[in-house]
Amino acid sequence: MAAQSRKHIVIIGGGASGVLLACELLRHRGRWLTVTLIEKRQSVGRGTAYSTDNPDHLLNVRAFNMSAFAHDPKNFTRWLADNNEIVGGREPGPLTFVPRKIYGRYLESLIAPYVSEASGAARLSIVHAEARRAHESADGVVVETSDGRQILADVAVFAGGHDEAQPAELACVTGPWEPNATKGINPNSSVLVLGTGLTMVDYVIALREAGHAGPIYALSRRGQLPQVHRPTMPLAINRASVPMGQSTLAIWNWFRAIARSQRSSGGDWRSAVDALRPHVSDIWRRMPFESKQRFLRHARPWWDSHRHRMAPRVADEIAQARTSGQLRVLAAKAHRIDGTDHGARVLFRRRGHHEIETIEVERIVLCTGVVSDPRTSANPTVAALLADRLARPDPLGIGLQFDGNCALVSADGRASTRIFGLGPVTRAAFWEIIAVPDIRDQCVRLSQHLTDLLKLDDDLSLAS
Ligand SMILES: Cc1cc2nc3c(=O)[nH]c(=O)nc-3n(C[C@H](O)[C@H](O)[C@H](O)COP(=O)(O)OP(=O)(O)OC[C@H]3O[C@@H](n4cnc5c(N)ncnc54)[C@H](O)[C@@H]3O)c2cc1C
Repeated sequence: MAAQSRKHIVIIGGGASGVLLACELLRHRGRWLTVTLIEKRQSVGRGTAYSTDNPDHLLNVRAFNMSAFAHDPKNFTRWLADNNEIVGGREPGPLTFVPRKIYGRYLESLIAPYVSEASGAARLSIVHAEARRAHESADGVVVETSDGRQILADVAVFAGGHDEAQPAELACVTGPWEPNATKGINPNSSVLVLGTGLTMVDYVIALREAGHAGPIYALSRRGQLPQVHRPTMPLAINRASVPMGQSTLAIWNWFRAIARSQRSSGGDWRSAVDALRPHVSDIWRRMPFESKQRFLRHARPWWDSHRHRMAPRVADEIAQARTSGQLRVLAAKAHRIDGTDHGARVLFRRRGHHEIETIEVERIVLCTGVVSDPRTSANPTVAALLADRLARPDPLGIGLQFDGNCALVSADGRASTRIFGLGPVTRAAFWEIIAVPDIRDQCVRLSQHLTDLLKLDDDLSLAS
């Protein structure tokens, strides 16, 4: 029988999601598969979350739950020990919140063996360029990159992660991760942070470390800050007891009863939130459309602040900034922003109030999280997929539309057999697909689906 040709999968985006998928694919199906990872940054595995050099930017998940592999839950803690990593002057344990820069090193180390295989037949290529367009052809899918390549593959997976917004019109507006985000600001002037989630928390810590002494305003509609992690008793929720397919209100009432019973037996609501997590994607997929809209409108800030929590050390620093009066959290809506000679004048209205207030700030930092509407994305791949009608926005307007197998849905409603999505870019389909524990599970499912689609197991049996 004729030898089978190798299949080729190209992954656009070499952040945590892209790296985890590459590892998952190559771990099982390496011999009959080559993978190309396209990453525009200089390093892989870092992405938005793990590119920071700041040792005070900690993981918001404890070490024991940050293994790259669901089948090997101690992989990360073992790596920490093998590499003699030290956190806060001591060896980190499973409950430690490790600096994110260490986690970036861990992810990068996972991919290294596949790039430098001794046989010389490396199954993984890393292309440091920006993917500009991905389109289907008769033979597969072609990805065009900023350095002029046209990479042909059987399948492309878009793992572009946290989106970047279009550049703002005002010069004083910046993103939190831009190199100059904390630089060039008069240490006594005022800074406004839009958003009050974990990204705001990171930014405030970095700004204070840079010596900023002036007021920092953090503004969001509800002014809800992330809750703090506490040690919790593990709790499991049986899938059969989850009210799948029901309204937000029904699910809310059911969930509150669980949280109440936890509290009355001496436990903590955090156990209930954590126990719900494995079911969130299923709940989301089965929820009626109107309930999803209602959740996004009313319950999302509550869920986000209870689900995405701060490490205690980080929470102490934020509490200190608030107590000293430097950090002022506003539950308000920005009404208008006008440029001035020294920054911007911001008009805002506090929640429940009528009068408009004004602050003068030197810098505005956008910490509002993942950009929702893909039509405003600055990512050329997203823009090209939409322009080529290979993609469409999800009806909720919070991302591109993907089906339950992570296949991209085209403008005319067809699920692609060539282009897939992974990680936060698939949030409209799965909602809870932001953190590593969820992404690693998605990688296993997607890898299995691609194996079936490309008949990689058949290739393996032919080879043996
Ligand atoms: C500040 C922050 C802290 C977090 N902390 C934690 C945590 O402690 N624990 C946890 O589990 N999760 C955390 N998360 C959640 C985070 O979403 C995931 O852990 C994970 O990093 C997501 O990875 P990603 O690869 O999907 O996205 P990203 O990290 O955004 O990476 C996407 C990558 O794709 C590249 N890219 C995008 N478009 C293109 C293109 N067109 N061409 C080439 N390259 C492209 C980008 O350069 C980037 O490197 C955090 C998120 C943030 C923002």
